Amino acid sequence: MLKTRKLVVTFAGTALSVCALASAAQVAETTNPSSNVPTPQSVLGHKPGDDFYLANYDESREYFHKLAASSNRIKLLNVGKTTRGLDWQIAIISSPENLANLDKYKNTSRKLADGRGLSDAEARELARQGKAIVHIDGGLHSTEVAGAQQSINLAYKLVSSQGDPEVDAILNNVILMLWPTLNPDGQNEVVAWYRGNVGTNYEVSPLPDLYQEYVGHANNRDGYMNNMIESQDVTRTEIEWDPVIFYCHHQTAPFPTRIFIPPFVEPISSNIHPLMARWLSVMGTNMAAYLDEHGMPGAVHRVGFDNWYPGFLDFTHIFRNSISFFTETALYRYATPRFYPVDEFPKEQRGLRSEVFYSSPWKGGWWRLCDAVNYMEGGSMAVLDTAAKYHEELLYNRYQAARDNVERFKKEEPFAYVISREQRDLPEAATLVQKLMINGIEVHQATKTFHANGREYPPGTWVVLMDQPFSPLAKELFEPQRYPDLRETPNSPPKLPYDVTGWTLPMQMGVLVAPVLQPVGATDRAALERLENFAAPAGGVNGAGSVYVVSHKPNASFKLLNEVLASGGHVGFATSETETADGSESGAIVLSGIERGKLDGLSKENSLTVKAVAAAPKDTVNVKKARVGLYRAWVPAIDEGWTRWILEQFKFDAVTLRNGDIQAGNLRDKFDAIVLPDSNPDTILNGFGPGSVPGEYVGGIGEFGVMALREFVLAGGTLITFNNASLFVIDQLGLPVKNVLAGLKDEEFFCSGCLLRVEVPDMAHSAVAGLPHDPIVMFERGPAFDVKEGFHGRVLAAYPKDESALMSGYLLHPERIQGKASALEVQYGKGRVYLLGFRPQWRGQSHGTYKFFFNAFYESQGLSKPGGAIQPPKGAEPGGAHQEGGSAKPPAQ
Ligand SMILES: [Zn+2]
Repeated sequence: MLKTRKLVVTFAGTALSVCALASAAQVAETTNPSSNVPTPQSVLGHKPGDDFYLANYDESREYFHKLAASSNRIKLLNVGKTTRGLDWQIAIISSPENLANLDKYKNTSRKLADGRGLSDAEARELARQGKAIVHIDGGLHSTEVAGAQQSINLAYKLVSSQGDPEVDAILNNVILMLWPTLNPDGQNEVVAWYRGNVGTNYEVSPLPDLYQEYVGHANNRDGYMNNMIESQDVTRTEIEWDPVIFYCHHQTAPFPTRIFIPPFVEPISSNIHPLMARWLSVMGTNMAAYLDEHGMPGAVHRVGFDNWYPGFLDFTHIFRNSISFFTETALYRYATPRFYPVDEFPKEQRGLRSEVFYSSPWKGGWWRLCDAVNYMEGGSMAVLDTAAKYHEELLYNRYQAARDNVERFKKEEPFAYVISREQRDLPEAATLVQKLMINGIEVHQATKTFHANGREYPPGTWVVLMDQPFSPLAKELFEPQRYPDLRETPNSPPKLPYDVTGWTLPMQMGVLVAPVLQPVGATDRAALERLENFAAPAGGVNGAGSVYVVSHKPNASFKLLNEVLASGGHVGFATSETETADGSESGAIVLSGIERGKLDGLSKENSLTVKAVAAAPKDTVNVKKARVGLYRAWVPAIDEGWTRWILEQFKFDAVTLRNGDIQAGNLRDKFDAIVLPDSNPDTILNGFGPGSVPGEYVGGIGEFGVMALREFVLAGGTLITFNNASLFVIDQLGLPVKNVLAGLKDEEFFCSGCLLRVEVPDMAHSAVAGLPHDPIVMFERGPAFDVKEGFHGRVLAAYPKDESALMSGYLLHPERIQGKASALEVQYGKGRVYLLGFRPQWRGQSHGTYKFFFNAFYESQGLSKPGGAIQPPKGAEPGGAHQEGGSAKPPAQ
């Protein structure tokens, strides 16, 4: 997490580097020198953990190479490339005998993780013979710097140790997969930034960039979606190796505690196998005891972090029956030490009172990088020690979890999930299938007619049978979430979730998925074939003619549109009902001036069926390539990164706009549309304050930027604002729009990340072309709108008037937004502002609402006439994208 703390006490060169506690590693280094095994210092020139020093990823990798060359206890494994193209390698550390038999032990782990075909006695015997494969890493939040230094020390300790019974037991019983870091790109970037600033006034300045190319700190929110290359590398490797434990290091300990360790706080998902939850607590307690035993006080449990959102990259694996967790060690900033007197503690902590879950309160004093590194190494050693002692039980329990999942869904619903091919957006349904397969979930496809819920499904239908080992993950992703109301009284403020409360993937992606409520019989099972590899649906051009029509409903049509323009072709939008391969619709995309064979290839790549016709529909409005600008602040904005990534995926070639680019003005000459991603309004205006970062990164768009944006819209440009960036524009441009949620306390309205149903009052408007009547939006602490006198424009979407909008997650006081607008088109001069009061592209998951901004990119090209006075939303018909049939109902909250 980004934190604001008081500025520096100590700078480089003014503090002696003396760690209060000699770590086990340091003892090993001085008492067990090994002639062959290089110390980190001999390669890096510093000890990882030294004040003001950080090893970058390239140096760390060099050290691991030298370590691997020196010993038969370690092997390196290539796990892929990073987003910025680095080679990514991890270390496998164990006894030489175990490393010589890696395939055998991987195979044993695989059999136990799968469970099928084994009797309990056979599983017990395999568990007895097996080794615990354990994942430990150096963290994925690159400004939380100690983790990646720790992994170097941990590797050295395990590889160099001689005659240490604890290490010997670990090497004999555990196969450690040590990931030096989960974000190599970020480690290089952050270390370069710190090295450039150390010893200056900006030594502890925040990094003015996302340390993962697109998603920065949200690189741990991509666990089930696997949008980023790094997430894919991690998930693929975990599924191949089946670690029984997955442990990731972070650095956001709640002050003044020194390390947060599981158990987590409530709530927890009911889809986690109880044995995994139990072991998670065992690991946590053992870690805290280990730290106390080694003179490292201040571990705390059960504060702050809950186990609700399954998308944490260091937690998703628990739904695959791997004990997955993280710890949060204290951090000042980078490798700069800091002194904390007790009188800086919060008042209630100054008494240093022992608590059940904080038994050895930290008494204050210096906190250095080496302290954090030692605590982390202690945590890692405790996990390895526990794994060594209980490896047989851990492996057997993992088998039990798989066995229980298979048995459970033979007896209870959902027996399966059906993903029909009759979808508004078939390529997105296929993407959902692909996401499941990346997650190790088995998907079948019907080769004959398949029956479920009293319906017939044709060949090609996808089916997820739930009697499989990792099925809880499918349930976790597909069912509506019912976040428990943990308030003490009905008038208490809500208990804040750590992340979002609802994420139901079919709802977010606009894909129909039906739970199957009766057991799947033998005949229907025989109609299914397991998909070994993902295959996208076929596409191509049908019919005769040299003009081509494709539906506006699939998101992929926008990628195709951009590819056709890039090939020199022409594009238009039909504004009246037009026949496409997917039925009749308003807004169909018309393509011409492209060679049929070329278009056929592009259509196949995008899984789109394109219809050839003799002539363009008469009401076709031609459009040019959308010229899109995307604002990028120096204060790193994760939402900007996600937007940039999505626009790249759909080939929009958006131009990044920095403060100076906006302030320079004349924006209408260069852009049709400018996007302001979700942001605190003050951040857009003012950015980093003077003195907090080097001068070139200070400030936001400022008054001149506001003037330039105003001129842009007045001159006919389209300004699109996501979520809270809407408030900035309402305020700065003086739009006659009010946020009805302004100033409400959490107990008066609360919605931190849940899925809400909205209704589209005017389906004929080009700005909503391709959307369903009732899309589902991700709402996360955003605004809801009323319009004021003088408003000219339209309501694009509004929350239902007569019922709660909640579809999945937790919404307190739904009546506050009933009938209120969630998306507005505001006329302003010759241009328009689109206020989207939700997260239309949240974490690359809410595919079902991308068209709210894709469409808006073209509105300045004469697609629709300016709207009139506000129209109240009409009752919209159903037909949106969510669960069809089945027992799934919106939660009653
Ligand atoms: Zn973190």
